[in-house]
Amino acid sequence: MRTRSIVLPLLALLGACTMNLAQVEGPDANAIPTTWPSQSLVFAARTADGVFVVDLGWGGADRALRRGLAEIGATPEDVTDVFVTHSHRDHIMAWPLVRHARFHMMAAEVPLFEGLTGHADVPSRAARAVRGDAGPWAGEVDVRPFSGDTTFVMGADTIRAFVVPGHTPGSTAYLHRGVLFAGDAISRPYHTGYGPGMGIFTTDKARNHAELVSLFERLRPYDVQWVCTAHGKCARPDERFIRKVLR
Ligand SMILES: [Zn+2]
Repeated sequence: MRTRSIVLPLLALLGACTMNLAQVEGPDANAIPTTWPSQSLVFAARTADGVFVVDLGWGGADRALRRGLAEIGATPEDVTDVFVTHSHRDHIMAWPLVRHARFHMMAAEVPLFEGLTGHADVPSRAARAVRGDAGPWAGEVDVRPFSGDTTFVMGADTIRAFVVPGHTPGSTAYLHRGVLFAGDAISRPYHTGYGPGMGIFTTDKARNHAELVSLFERLRPYDVQWVCTAHGKCARPDERFIRKVLR
């Protein structure tokens, strides 16, 4: 019971409910929360050129993903591309279900995703010591690394990757149809509201902050309607929101 007594307060810190997820959904796009109460988000969208997901959830993600894909008329076999915001275990758990897909992530995240090195934050080190690695071995899935901001085209859809290292060495945000999936580079603990990545889980807090300052500048040319955290909280990115995140 000792593990439970530590884990539950940590999960509560992440917030126990989603916010505005329906705003980023549509007939061919679904925001799929996994693992109550941390609500690690999987976002799935159907394009004319295949189905993609952003992140792969935590406990129960297999079932949630199957159900969430069915709601947009898709199956795990239809998923062609996975965009990874970062490789903390609570965002990659359903990888075996879509192991046939291309896995896109920043190059700096690859050795962490493949377990060649471990995450530096204390909770990840503890989890790795107890439960081992959560991701695939090197070569087990098709990893397509990128080193800076880049753009992917799938049919009529564009997915723009913005690298924001700091929470993890290869943290990345993805912009699709006006929705920015920011991973854990932005968080919303229930007691403080929106802010940068949570300190206890973040490898380099100063870099996380600096990259967010840069990110909001780099986003200026784009019409960003919503920003969603990896734990299922979405907000309008107005000046007040940006000030809060960069506090
Ligand atoms: Zn994280």
